[in-house]
Amino acid sequence: MPHRPQQRLVVVGGGPGGYEAALVAAQLGADVTVVDTDGLGGSAVLTDCVPSKTLIATSEVMTQVDGSAELGVRYASTQASGEHVGVDLQVVNNRVKQLAHAQSGDIRAALAAAGVRLVAGLGRLVPGGVEVTGGSGVRTLPADAVLLALGATPRRLETSMPDGERILDWRQLYDLRELPEHLVVVGSGVTGAEFASAYRALGSEVTLISSRDRVLPGEDADAARVLEDAFRRRGMKVMSRSRAENVRREGAGVVVTLSDGSTVAGSHCLMAVGSIPNTAGIGLEEAGVELSPSGHVVTDRVSRTSVPGIYAAGDCTGVLALASVAAMQGRIAMRHLLGDSVRPLSLKTVSSNIFTAPEIATVGWTQSQLDSGEAQGVGVMLPLATNPRAKMQGVTEGFVKLFARTGSGTVIGGVVVGPRASELIFPVTLAVEHRLTVDDVARSFTVYPSLSGSIAEAARQLHPAPLA
Ligand SMILES: Cc1cc2nc3c(=O)[nH]c(=O)nc-3n(C[C@H](O)[C@H](O)[C@H](O)COP(=O)(O)OP(=O)(O)OC[C@H]3O[C@@H](n4cnc5c(N)ncnc54)[C@H](O)[C@@H]3O)c2cc1C
Repeated sequence: MPHRPQQRLVVVGGGPGGYEAALVAAQLGADVTVVDTDGLGGSAVLTDCVPSKTLIATSEVMTQVDGSAELGVRYASTQASGEHVGVDLQVVNNRVKQLAHAQSGDIRAALAAAGVRLVAGLGRLVPGGVEVTGGSGVRTLPADAVLLALGATPRRLETSMPDGERILDWRQLYDLRELPEHLVVVGSGVTGAEFASAYRALGSEVTLISSRDRVLPGEDADAARVLEDAFRRRGMKVMSRSRAENVRREGAGVVVTLSDGSTVAGSHCLMAVGSIPNTAGIGLEEAGVELSPSGHVVTDRVSRTSVPGIYAAGDCTGVLALASVAAMQGRIAMRHLLGDSVRPLSLKTVSSNIFTAPEIATVGWTQSQLDSGEAQGVGVMLPLATNPRAKMQGVTEGFVKLFARTGSGTVIGGVVVGPRASELIFPVTLAVEHRLTVDDVARSFTVYPSLSGSIAEAARQLHPAPLA
């Protein structure tokens, strides 16, 4: 067999886009080096995804405690002393940091075991490789190919700069020593909604400021409505069509000025106004890598950039800001680079979840795409309140929605709103991925009683497959 020289690959960025790719590339025989400034796991593990979901794990317990009286649970000491169940934020935040650190260590160990070299420092594209500036000075790593997995950073607004004490971005939340008395959240996208939900459940007063008509613009409208109702029922103040002009510190708190001149006072403010890609100042333009007007690296469906041998994955591409998508883009890039069989990225089968209470999980075509005629199909929506298991568990909010292709009855998408929707969406994802029909789903046994019974029931209701 002819000898193929080992490809020297440098991965810039150790988040899911980078480290998952590095593992695949090592498995396929490449000589792999990962360069990262902040530590392995990237923002996903160290500051964003893992920390937020760990914090939310505590908030979920608090939500359950909150709803437990209806199920007959009584807390004797609470009744006797009049105290409330509360959280110790320092314990919560220590746990968050320890867990993130440990997960980063696990990734480091997995990469080392796979023979991947790790270099700490800032990577910059230079002719023939990547220049790394780190603790040990500047060195150049020669490369036959480079994967850019640079991630993104919280967007900062001149008028509302985080100070790390009272005005915060989401990466600074874990240094808080006490629960904010009143957290004002600017931004009602996924990040804003998740933290607003979590801190309300932990016991903070929360005001959520949304510049749009409703929270979670761009998500399923019925789901957003259920969530907004749940927020209000739990005592959160949701301000729609309210644009925050600036945020400033005043006394021991913060004041947010809205575009109509009115103000909202709180003890702390969380700025959740999006992210910007980490693509500036590291030689991308000089190397001819095409960037979009928003600064994202332009890629095709096998993660190639405009420059041969340079690939990109994850949040720096602006494709879909999810750890799962970043990892998939990175793996696809490596399979393409190293000549393995590869299927181009398809976003139609990506399942994603918003970790609020209730959770909102989605996959496939959406209601708005059906309504606009972009996709041909019909849907059915079943409220969870009619599901026997939900009744037993005291679950009153949420629903299951299933979409099927007109004519064939193939499942093309779905939405689940409810507790653990992130787990419940998987059968729908399987159906979409494997093109199962509603009859295939309806024929499968579900446990009685179970929330997944509503998914099978929705499939039954979509039989027979409606005609075109
Ligand atoms: C609050 C929050 C919660 C989230 N929750 C979820 C969730 O529940 N599920 C989910 O799927 N997604 C979630 N996401 C999205 C997810 O975190 C991102 O999609 C994911 O981190 C993208 O991975 P990445 O590899 O592209 O980048 P990152 O994870 O950002 O990693 C990039 C790494 O590259 C490093 N780097 C950048 N430039 C250089 C350079 N020049 N040289 C060396 N190193 C460099 C960075 O320091 C960083 O360590 C969440 C995001 C946020 C903000």
